[in-house]
Amino acid sequence: MRSLRNGLLVAAPLLLAACAHSLDGVALNDSAPAFNGYLAYRYTATVTHFGPRSPGSAAHARLVTWLEHQLEGTNWSAESFTAHTPDGPIPMTNLIARFPGTRPGVIVIGGHYDTLSHRPDFVGANDGGSSTGILLALADHFHDNPPHGPSVWIVWLDGEEAIRSWVGNDHTYGSRTLAEHWEKDGTALRILAMLNLDMIGDRHLDVARDTDATPWLMDLVCNEAQRIGAGADFCKYSMAVGDDDTEFRNAGMPAADIIDFDYGPFNEYWHTPKDTLDKLSPRSLRIVGSVTLATVHALAERDRHNAGNAHEKAL
Ligand SMILES: [Zn+2]
Repeated sequence: MRSLRNGLLVAAPLLLAACAHSLDGVALNDSAPAFNGYLAYRYTATVTHFGPRSPGSAAHARLVTWLEHQLEGTNWSAESFTAHTPDGPIPMTNLIARFPGTRPGVIVIGGHYDTLSHRPDFVGANDGGSSTGILLALADHFHDNPPHGPSVWIVWLDGEEAIRSWVGNDHTYGSRTLAEHWEKDGTALRILAMLNLDMIGDRHLDVARDTDATPWLMDLVCNEAQRIGAGADFCKYSMAVGDDDTEFRNAGMPAADIIDFDYGPFNEYWHTPKDTLDKLSPRSLRIVGSVTLATVHALAERDRHNAGNAHEKAL
């Protein structure tokens, strides 16, 4: 993930505010959808214990097998492909769990499960681990509570991290392959929105307003966060983020990044061996999961409203 922060000078006060907030035990309000942050944290811990999980590694292959095992009992598929990287061809796999709804459209919730290459000491608890874990907990949620409205597809994306460095096409291999596939076969036309979750476990939660996101979708996320009582944790700073959601946007789908790119003092835990489980909290995962569910509900309402308007026009 690459980023350009706007207003770097305000980082220190923001961090202080985030610290104070995380210690005061502020709860979400009664309108917040229930989400099990402890479950998401346990999944994240298990994923992190696989160790460095770069594409092509033995730990990566073991993680894919484990993820497939977790998805048993749901309608899931694995889409494998060969990524052409600066290190040569590397096999990669996207995993998709589909939860059918009651309306034709689809809401996609995605995130990456790979970790940085060439870093034997990098376990990526937050960067790679938290997205994998929260998506598993969201899959459990939709397994137990099937969507009323558009279908929900949960996607574990491979190869988000650069194999060598974030230049040219050396990044977001899984999302680019999937988005291009969906653009070609017409699936993209059914996608109402793609929400990408990345680095969302930081115990000092501070989710950015992604200025690259589809504007109405990012507004929806920020408004829902505010509405359910997570306003102190979301959209307090703006930044442009290049991430997996970019590939879906490039293929014509509305997409937004839900990312906390304020990880440790001056982001010093990002892409370093300091990205470990002790920096994360179930509370942060609960808040992000709850905002994600609130956004899914809001998207369903929006879809119903838009369909109603189209019907009126047709009459
Ligand atoms: Zn990363």
